[in-house]
Amino acid sequence: MADPDILVVGAGAAGLAAARAAMAAGRSVQVLEARGRPGGRAWTDAATLGAPFDLGATWLHQAHDNPLAPLAGGAAPFDHDAVRHSLCLIARRPASEAETAAYDATYAAFHARLRAALADAPPDASAADFAPRGGAWDATVAHWEGPVICAARLAEMDLRDFLDTQLDAPNWLLPQGLGSFLSGFAAGLPIAYGAVVERLRWGGPGVVAEGAFGRVAARAAIVTIPTSLIAAGAPRFDPPLPHRTGQAAHDLPLGLLNKVGLRAAGEDRLGLAPFTGLERRVETEDEAAMSFIAWPFGHDHLMGFLGGPAAWEASREGPRALEALARAELRHAFGARAGAALAGMPMLASDWGNDPFARGAYSHARPGRASARRVLGEPLAGGRLCFAGEACHPRLAATVGGAWESGEWAARAALDSLEGMEREMPA
Ligand SMILES: Cc1cc2nc3c(=O)[nH]c(=O)nc-3n(C[C@H](O)[C@H](O)[C@H](O)COP(=O)(O)OP(=O)(O)OC[C@H]3O[C@@H](n4cnc5c(N)ncnc54)[C@H](O)[C@@H]3O)c2cc1C
Repeated sequence: MADPDILVVGAGAAGLAAARAAMAAGRSVQVLEARGRPGGRAWTDAATLGAPFDLGATWLHQAHDNPLAPLAGGAAPFDHDAVRHSLCLIARRPASEAETAAYDATYAAFHARLRAALADAPPDASAADFAPRGGAWDATVAHWEGPVICAARLAEMDLRDFLDTQLDAPNWLLPQGLGSFLSGFAAGLPIAYGAVVERLRWGGPGVVAEGAFGRVAARAAIVTIPTSLIAAGAPRFDPPLPHRTGQAAHDLPLGLLNKVGLRAAGEDRLGLAPFTGLERRVETEDEAAMSFIAWPFGHDHLMGFLGGPAAWEASREGPRALEALARAELRHAFGARAGAALAGMPMLASDWGNDPFARGAYSHARPGRASARRVLGEPLAGGRLCFAGEACHPRLAATVGGAWESGEWAARAALDSLEGMEREMPA
């Protein structure tokens, strides 16, 4: 590996975008990636279920202002919202029209209350402070808004950050998988795989990365590894990061969302049309309730989700716990028919909590810490050391689009730093 102008640590969405932007500006780049593949937390398994299955990122959210959307034209994006319909069960029966209307109204009231509270809320308010309590659908709304969508409990999240990072339609699915689509951007980039950066020295005129791969020196570095790892001290920074940067990483922990894919054994599709969202009413926000999307694109698999504390619990119990929960949830809904419909077929489950290069799914801000995203994204040492990644995006946090854009921002800061150094050099 030749010493480059700009070193990029991590080949997920942020790292790929940063490397592309730096190369487009005519700079030499080296990407060091710990895994044996690009994409990071966006990863498609195209083989196991006989159809693409995203184990991580799935949708291009907010497609009208997602920086990846204009690049996705050739990937035949599919507007999921155009076919979205859901089946919400109460015990084993579908919710009635009146119950569904009450559910929708609880949702709308929750958001209205949060927005109204924003101006007067204490600086360390969490979304949970304004969650409704006592109604039939309150726990279900909290369950969706917290553990399922944000991968953490509402009480763990800052109110302002929660509202600032709300995502809207359109939500695009890519038939080939979002992970496959993103991996395509690695083509032609100088990426060293299996290169775990263990130490980053940034006290001298440049930046030096060290690990079992050896040593790479660069004039500037863009670090895109998840905040869970930065907060845990991996890699080691020498000198240590400024307190406010380290604190920002600590204030942006990753919640957990895991996915499971279960394939049908025969023709039985459990009476569910393709793309049906299957969920149930819950009694508590933290309930280990799984939700599913049935037979996406008409494929013969179900896509299941488990988030928040229940996901961490299953992840501690071991690799088969998520599958067991998913099968139990479907048996609860459809009885023995579910067991027969899904028997003996290959399955897939993600394990982001135990993944040594993720340690979680995506970030949220702790109560009172909404500013941490901007702090983490501030270039250090005049742009010689920049952080990027989903956690650094104040609007599209927790998404591939946010990670991508933050990578481009960090590349701009690193490029400016190089230009500044060159201006100061004697002719
Ligand atoms: C289950 C799940 C569902 C999701 N759903 C969606 C969704 O539908 N839509 C959406 O937009 N987002 C979704 N996300 C979030 C999305 O995947 C992330 O926000 C995004 O991929 C993060 O990109 P990143 O570049 O910031 O980080 P990463 O993708 O984590 O990239 C960082 C890279 O750094 C590498 N690395 C770590 N440590 C080192 C080291 N020491 N040395 C070298 N390399 C290192 C890692 O291997 C990784 O490749 C989901 C995530 C999960 C887990």
